[in-house]
Amino acid sequence: MYPPPPGERNKWTDRRISVVLHNPHYAGYTTSTRRPTRKEVVDGQLKVVRLVAKDVQLYEGRHEAIVPREDWHKAQEILASHPAPPVPAGKGQKNAFTGLIVCGLCGRKMQRSFTVDPDGTARAPIFFCPSRSQCDTISHRCDEVERMVLDTLRGWLASYSAGIDPFPQRDLTEQLRTSLKQFEKHLSDLDARVNRAFELVETGVYTPEIYVERKNALDAERVSMMKQITNIEAELKKLENEQAIRQEFLPKLQHVLETYEAAENAREQNQLLKTVIDKIVYTKTVRVTSNNPGNLHLQVYPLLPH
Ligand SMILES: [Zn+2]
Repeated sequence: MYPPPPGERNKWTDRRISVVLHNPHYAGYTTSTRRPTRKEVVDGQLKVVRLVAKDVQLYEGRHEAIVPREDWHKAQEILASHPAPPVPAGKGQKNAFTGLIVCGLCGRKMQRSFTVDPDGTARAPIFFCPSRSQCDTISHRCDEVERMVLDTLRGWLASYSAGIDPFPQRDLTEQLRTSLKQFEKHLSDLDARVNRAFELVETGVYTPEIYVERKNALDAERVSMMKQITNIEAELKKLENEQAIRQEFLPKLQHVLETYEAAENAREQNQLLKTVIDKIVYTKTVRVTSNNPGNLHLQVYPLLPH
């Protein structure tokens, strides 16, 4: 058997037991390859899949069987009649927060883990920082993190319902429109000055040289003015788009809270959360003990322009 990863030696996981039960070598057989594999396309990606005993050509081994052949074949029959439960439509994804939680200390994406105690009892899944020993962030139970995040979303909704925007933004539209008007006024003044300079050269007040000099200076000012106007117009357009995104936020938030609990699987929940959450910054440096609640803090950032 392949060596288990460090820290997991001596642990009998379902997977490990399954590998042992399927291994034909224990029944004195040998296979054409030591670790029979086949290349397969899974979820659009090329993967090397280990073959189970029934797909492998068995040969008489030169070693002694430690499991009677009859028992091994019986085990294969029983295993074949109890196939592994099909992976749900979520393709096995169990983490509704995939890609959303970031470690507040090192910035890496937090991961979800599921561990089993030495006595075989399953522990509640936890979120942990993948930097582990290089980062002081302490893991925390997933269900509690999930509850806290949902409470935050409900808080946003309550705020909207009370007529208060939970993410107030200074609206610069009016200010920009005022500047735009000033620049446009300045532009028409420039046109008037160009005309005036032309009159002055016509009446002989300006020499043609002075006129050209004036005209060049006024043209340069005009180019700069046009550039400012273009910038302000682009800025106003951007604000308009952002405004539209802000208006879509509340119905999205309502949809997430109405459908999250009843969602088919974690993948669907993940997609829902990603419609309203940009990221969640996770900070926890004090462990939860019987007389200390720890210091878990989650900063939930809405998926809004900022
Ligand atoms: Zn970290």
